[in-house]
Amino acid sequence: MTTLTRYDVTREQLAEVLDGTPRYRVDQVWSGLYEQFTEPDEWTNLPKALRADLARRLPNALTPVTETVSGNGDTVKFLWELEGGSRVETVLMLYADRATVCISSQAGCAMGCGFCATGQAGFTRHLTTGEIVEQVARASARARQAGRRVSNVVYMGMGEPMANEQSVWQSVERIHGEIGLSARHITISTVGLIPGIRKLAERPLPVNLAVSLHAANDSLRDELVPINKRYPIDDLIEACSDYLSARNRRISFEWAMIEGVNDRNSDAAELAALCRRLRPRAHVNLIPLNPTPGYATRGTSLKRVHEFRDLLESLGANATVRQNRGTEIDAACGQLAAGQPVTLGRKPSGPKAST
Ligand code: SAH
Ligand code: SF4
Repeated sequence: MTTLTRYDVTREQLAEVLDGTPRYRVDQVWSGLYEQFTEPDEWTNLPKALRADLARRLPNALTPVTETVSGNGDTVKFLWELEGGSRVETVLMLYADRATVCISSQAGCAMGCGFCATGQAGFTRHLTTGEIVEQVARASARARQAGRRVSNVVYMGMGEPMANEQSVWQSVERIHGEIGLSARHITISTVGLIPGIRKLAERPLPVNLAVSLHAANDSLRDELVPINKRYPIDDLIEACSDYLSARNRRISFEWAMIEGVNDRNSDAAELAALCRRLRPRAHVNLIPLNPTPGYATRGTSLKRVHEFRDLLESLGANATVRQNRGTEIDAACGQLAAGQPVTLGRKPSGPKAST
């Protein structure tokens, strides 16, 4: 990747690009990028020639392919094309009390979890800092149209953020320092790459950590999440425990519930035992497995998901059943495949807008 894009540059690098332009111009451009989330042709406080020059020298990293909106308008999925032709997705979710953007950190993913549409597609490449930050900026611009502000960022889109730790971290710093989100409103989700978790513990901002556990014993986890063979559960829990000691944050365990596979009483008992090993205890997020083309086993029924939650609670673990957003537009957890059909044979019920 050679092209420097709009959201790659730091304020200092922007000043270099605009060499010879007064400082207040740099501030105007920066405000256009990080406060207004607008395009150069909208920066009418700047000379036209300068705007054109900027648009040419610092192009966007993301070319919009489609924008899909759920029936009630509260979930928006963006499909982007990157330099080189690969595609990634971003999801904006508007709730009553917050607006969350779910961003991708890689095109594809090399981790090979069989139940995940991104994993089924394989790995293409890492995203740059600019490609990650621009997803938040574009989603923020879209939220503004609905009179909303993005309040939370979750690294839960395509890819494994801790396999691209450096660019991800730089993007966290930009989202925190320039877009102005506090660390407690930023969550990084990892499949459990221990070196990444350890690196994160040394970083200066205490972001939330979500660990996609899905199984609480090594033989099942080896099957569901192949990277477990390299980073087994005991070592992972130890890394989580060290993260908690270094940071004053909660860790959450993500658990996609798969019928007959990880929703048995024995699974709840093993999971609760792992939660109790951490101080403060880990919080479990339960979500019924979403359908993907490459994985036949179904998600657990909502009734059983709630029973499982109650069982966990009775065993001393805290658990929440997560609201499942975006299934009708293939925008839900594990369904991001950047253009490949996910829920075959099902059509979104709402209007579908393409740009
Ligand atoms: N690679 C990171 C970040 C992606 S987050 C990670 O795995 O944590 C996407 C979340 O959705 C993860 O918790 C992942 O395990 C989960 N997921 C994957 N496929 C899913 C599916 N089919 N249904 C529900 N959740 C799924
Ligand atoms: Fe990659 Fe996460 Fe999907 Fe596993 S669940 S394949 S780590 S994106």
